[in-house]
Amino acid sequence: MGHEVVGTIHRVGPAVTTLRPGQRVVLNPWLSCAPRGITPICEMCQDGQFSLCLNFKRGRLSPGLHTGVCHDAPGGYAPYVPAHESMAIPVPDEVTDDAAVLADPFSVSLHSILRHPPARGDIVVVYGCGTLGLCAIEILKRLFDVRIYAITRFDHQARLAQRLGAIETIPWQPVENIVERFREITGAREVLPPIEGTGGLPMLHGTRGVRVVYNTVGTAESIGVAIRIAGPRSTVVLSGVDTPARFEWSPHYFKEINLVGSNAFGVEEWNGKRQHAMRHYFDLLRTHRIDVTPIITHRYPLDAYKEAFRSTHDQGTSGAVKVLFEFA
Ligand SMILES: [Zn+2]
Repeated sequence: MGHEVVGTIHRVGPAVTTLRPGQRVVLNPWLSCAPRGITPICEMCQDGQFSLCLNFKRGRLSPGLHTGVCHDAPGGYAPYVPAHESMAIPVPDEVTDDAAVLADPFSVSLHSILRHPPARGDIVVVYGCGTLGLCAIEILKRLFDVRIYAITRFDHQARLAQRLGAIETIPWQPVENIVERFREITGAREVLPPIEGTGGLPMLHGTRGVRVVYNTVGTAESIGVAIRIAGPRSTVVLSGVDTPARFEWSPHYFKEINLVGSNAFGVEEWNGKRQHAMRHYFDLLRTHRIDVTPIITHRYPLDAYKEAFRSTHDQGTSGAVKVLFEFA
């Protein structure tokens, strides 16, 4: 949708006081109260939770959540992008364009992990290894002392997941094999059969097991598997979203699993410091040698947009994860 952008400020409006032309910035794409000219800003925006803003349908901009999905705020599939002063976050000189352009997906993954950070030594699972899953693996590897397992769909995702720090990758199908493999990994004492006639899967029980599943997929199947491999009173963080569906969720009840939603990012607290997730990212690039740039697999000029979208759509054959448009 063109909301993941790094660029240089071309021109500023008369009301802008903190930015100047020539400055390199990334986009905090939320079209929340401030860009909409709404005062006072809502309680969610006051708390820095821009993705939970109460005013996405009000103010001087037409309805829309963020840059690229609003008639008045077209995205970065173009040489120029409009942005409110509050949406442009300056990029430190030492940060490369490649690193900077990933500030948005990195922030989504950081937020999802901060929604429920793992404890030292935990077995954690990253479910789905597209951009968000791979960013999550890098964050978990660099910032937490945990054992990371990943569930992947394509071979190139599995290779990247292992390169970034997953101990092992497990194919997304058949799902029975995922449950069986985590029985071995966690040493689960009990494998409880599915409830008769429900079409469910067996469920693991009897050990601490998997403590957190970061589910970047959001399908009924992936949630159903996650609550079966997760240990008692563990947590499944859902940062993926899919069309509504039914599934057999009794393990959620039986093992008292916490289901935690995670939507985008905002002002986050990490290491005693509260600041925008993208500012944490720029700090972490320096202090923790975070590097998610291996997920950039393809680059195209805008004219080759058909090829670019095709490579994203056919990621199984193209090997695409993050596809960039570059402007001369
Ligand atoms: Zn708001």
